[in-house]
Amino acid sequence: MSTTAGTAPVIELDGVEKVFDVRRKTGTLRRTRTRVRAVDGISFTVPRGEVVGYIGPNGAGKSTTVKMLTGILNPSAGRIRIDGIDPTRERTRLARRIGVVFGQRTTLWWDLPLRDSYELVRRMYRVPDAVYARNLDTCVELLDLGPLLEVPVRQLSLGQRMRGDIAAALLHDPEVLYLDEPTIGLDVVSKSRVRDFLRGFNAERGTTILLTTHDLTDIESLCRRVMVIDHGRLVYDGGLDGLHASGESERTLIADFARELPPIDLPGARCVGVDGPRQSFAFPAGRSAAPLVAALAADHPLVDLSIREPAIEDVISRMYGATS
Ligand code: ADP
Repeated sequence: MSTTAGTAPVIELDGVEKVFDVRRKTGTLRRTRTRVRAVDGISFTVPRGEVVGYIGPNGAGKSTTVKMLTGILNPSAGRIRIDGIDPTRERTRLARRIGVVFGQRTTLWWDLPLRDSYELVRRMYRVPDAVYARNLDTCVELLDLGPLLEVPVRQLSLGQRMRGDIAAALLHDPEVLYLDEPTIGLDVVSKSRVRDFLRGFNAERGTTILLTTHDLTDIESLCRRVMVIDHGRLVYDGGLDGLHASGESERTLIADFARELPPIDLPGARCVGVDGPRQSFAFPAGRSAAPLVAALAADHPLVDLSIREPAIEDVISRMYGATS
């Protein structure tokens, strides 16, 4: 189902702009007006069933785009269609076709058990009984929500709450799911659980997903396509490999040894820091760390190690460095 690409696009943006008029007090009587061009002429389409990463530094215009796609904000110019629907004109009809998850806040009712929140969603969207039962069963099973259904939302951990939120967004069978930082603040296990679920759900149902995240591992594990927005403009649209290549991005292997050692000359990487018994090595993001780890462990008293993924900000700033 996830390979229905080639049919009519489910998300369409053509020359979309959003300008905010900001009034600021600059004296007792004076106010200056400035215009912020948050989204500055963006065009793209997303075919049905695709999972797309929508990334960029803070203030790039990502949230503003998503708010326009959900009908919360109206574009200043340009054209948007979601499954053929104009979000500005038919916000209510659109609401039935989309699901939204914000990592930073919950759409669940704080004092109610999860099950009651879902019941309210069912009534709000008038979800047919069979559809509701099927979706709830799928989500409860795959997100392991069974033991949590009777627990008030405020008692859930962040990871549990996020799983609960994702289920709430899917109960009405949306065509399109917007996820805004769905793994923010989660531990490694919860993150991979959320990713596994999204991958499986997309494969099974063909739900189109637009994912905003600061975590490149989210993108790596979910998206074949990534769009980068900066200063309101689309600056990259393609595979993650191409993004890493154009940004020449690097991962960092952080190794702790049993004692202080002189900087190690490690083929395929460069030593970028020595801090007591800890040494850091940068290597190309597209390569596996395994040979480096094996080489270090073979010749040195290796105690512990971790890998730091490239930050999206670094990838993007290097991309500009490489292209300008
Ligand atoms: P991102 O989600 O990529 O961090 P946003 O879409 O939130 O970026 O913001 C893009 C730009 O638009 C920023 O400069 C931000 O300050 C500005 N902006 C966002 N919302 C408003 C608003 N309601 N009024 C004025 N400026 C805004």
